[in-house]
Amino acid sequence: QERPAHCARGPARTRERRRIVPATKVIVNIPDERPYDVRIGADVLDGLGNYLRRIDATANAPRILVISDDNVAPLYLEEAKASLRAADYRVSEIVVPAGEKTKSVEVASEIWEAMAGLKLGRDCAVVALGGGVVGDLAGFTASTFMRGITVVQAPTSLLAMVDSSVGGKTGVNLSAGKNLVGTFTQPAYVCASTKTLSTLSSREWACGCGEVAKTALIDGDEFFFWLSDNASALASRDHDVTAEAIARSVVFKADVVAQDKTESRGVRECLNYGHTLGHAVESLAGYGTYSHGAAVAEGMRFAARLGAAIAGTSIDVVRAQDNLLDELGLPALSWSAAPEDMLAVMKRDKKVRGGVVKFVLPIDIGQWELREVEDDVILEHLAAWARSK
Ligand code: NAD
Repeated sequence: QERPAHCARGPARTRERRRIVPATKVIVNIPDERPYDVRIGADVLDGLGNYLRRIDATANAPRILVISDDNVAPLYLEEAKASLRAADYRVSEIVVPAGEKTKSVEVASEIWEAMAGLKLGRDCAVVALGGGVVGDLAGFTASTFMRGITVVQAPTSLLAMVDSSVGGKTGVNLSAGKNLVGTFTQPAYVCASTKTLSTLSSREWACGCGEVAKTALIDGDEFFFWLSDNASALASRDHDVTAEAIARSVVFKADVVAQDKTESRGVRECLNYGHTLGHAVESLAGYGTYSHGAAVAEGMRFAARLGAAIAGTSIDVVRAQDNLLDELGLPALSWSAAPEDMLAVMKRDKKVRGGVVKFVLPIDIGQWELREVEDDVILEHLAAWARSK
């Protein structure tokens, strides 16, 4: 554990008044990539500028462009800019509309034009201040502008802190599907200021909790039982439990990405646990009806039951996961759709090859398998799922 840099510097009066909250640092070390730090703590946004002065990729950047959305910018953009200016950076900003629709080629193009207008060079850097939408969009535009300028992630949603800000996937959506265009570009630094989470809606909070639960189940006993013991504290946003859940999730994700940076070795697939059915729920219920996290949680419940039927998953695991999701505020949905419609949507997923749908199945806590499942088996289980509603 380390102390935030500002604690040693601030004027005496400020130091006395301020509660010193230790920050946690996780180092992400991916083969053939420059290692980078993920700092998790209440006040790390305040120290952003100073930290960037210490990182080779950003130390001498003549300008930093902060990209944010119109929900996050009024809340945290000034603090980010003040921190960068205090470290003597020249700062520019772009604020995009909040929401998934912004992750488009059209908005990316506007950002590229703005970058050119600002005369950003290869030695400049972009800070993505926001949730996963801003992170993916800013990461994508930075990694393609002038064949790639440095990107720093400053996630402000729980989902972005535990998942999307780490691992280097960037991208935008096409009308043919989500994330169809993108790059693998690791950030130079991830600045996860837990203080920003205080303004996150309960829907987005539960969404992040769904990803934490997914990670814990795939990771293993230690994370899973720690989370089970602390689920209600996480659901009620206890600061220390939240910071620890983020750190544990980041350690897990960093390890997975280190083994399979470009999702080509079958390791990174585990991150899709719950997503096969989850994506179909989101699509058929209509995007936005259920949060991504609620849909993934439903997908986890389905995959565990499918695992119990075809892969030997113990019923204790199914129950333990059900309890965890309930406690995290992710109850089973009362919604269902016709099995044939669900299967048809699953088959449209970009990860489907040769028309065969694959599921990440939890064999046990900390043990998973990617299984191709026959259509008739899926339909039978979808029918049971629909009947349970
Ligand atoms: P998001 O970025 O849309 O944020 C959710 C909402 O919360 C938005 O309205 C946003 O403005 C608001 N918000 C964010 N931080 C806030 C704060 N501190 N206070 C108040 N409001 C705040 O969505 P998300 O759930 O963060 O991310 C979802 C996106 O992440 C999807 O596009 C998904 O494809 C992507 N994703 C990427 C990866 C990856 O590896 N790159 C992994 C998972 C998800």
